[in-house]
Amino acid sequence: MYKLIDGKLISTTIKDELKQEVADKNIKATLAVIQVGNDPASSVYVGNKKKACEYIGIGSKSFELPEETTEEELLKLIDELNADDSINGILVQLPVPKHIDDEKIINRISPLKDVDGFHPESVGNLCIGQEGFVSCTPAGIIELLKRSDVSIEGKECVVIGRSNIVGKPMALLLLANNGTVTVCHSRTKDLKKVCKRADILVAAVGKPKMITAEYVKEGAVVIDVGIHRMDNGKLCGDVDFDDVAPHTSAITPVPGGVGPMTIAMLMVNCVKAAKRR
Ligand code: NDP
Repeated sequence: MYKLIDGKLISTTIKDELKQEVADKNIKATLAVIQVGNDPASSVYVGNKKKACEYIGIGSKSFELPEETTEEELLKLIDELNADDSINGILVQLPVPKHIDDEKIINRISPLKDVDGFHPESVGNLCIGQEGFVSCTPAGIIELLKRSDVSIEGKECVVIGRSNIVGKPMALLLLANNGTVTVCHSRTKDLKKVCKRADILVAAVGKPKMITAEYVKEGAVVIDVGIHRMDNGKLCGDVDFDDVAPHTSAITPVPGGVGPMTIAMLMVNCVKAAKRR
């Protein structure tokens, strides 16, 4: 029988720990959340991030900018927030409208306030094993594994996906935790065979239910990063849960697995930003 890794429960535990720490140490922190345009999915994410701030007892300041905001205007706001001592973390909800270069935006946020962990300095620190902000989704996956007593050391870890925000930092974190790591992508030959080697398989491929039992070694731990809305309105992941779960020793569901951890780790980064200052 497999174990269901409960991201909802683990994320609540983390937020409760933070809430306690913020109260005990009288930590004062404020997160600036910038949204450009009114994409409904982004509005939901932004709303959840503000709610999480409130829950753990830190402030949030919202900047809801119109779709036609120029790149220069957004960069100017980031400069102001970088210089504002009352702001500890800055988050620009992605994606930004097409006329804005997201790379320029990410690079402009001060590395000291980069709570999303996307700045090249943060990524560089992760790469060479130095202290810094780590991208929230992969950091959340490491917490899920640790808090579910899944040891990473010496394990064959296969990550499907090499994006800057999930796949690559995931691979670096597994490596930092002494896993033996393989990263797969759209040009990988014989993906099933490579995945079948994994003791820990992380699917961040962005294709609904692509990972079936044929990709999974008996007894593997499977982490599903994907999130997709199906025609019937329900959510599913990159993993075909019903097909795969019976072959695993532990697996994350969608929803309720990796998703809630992303926001919990954002809160960890906000508290860290306040303490670093
Ligand atoms: P991207 O689309 O940026 O990356 C997808 C990766 O999968 C790419 O590296 C791509 O390879 C690879 N890939 C695509 N098709 C195949 C294939 N057939 N075989 C092997 N590899 C393939 O996605 P993200 O990393 O941003 O996100 C991945 C998933 O995670 C999405 O479903 C997204 O919605 C979800 N997500 C969930 C979050 C959460 O909080 N739960 C947070 C962030 C993302 P190549 O590089 O060669 O193109």
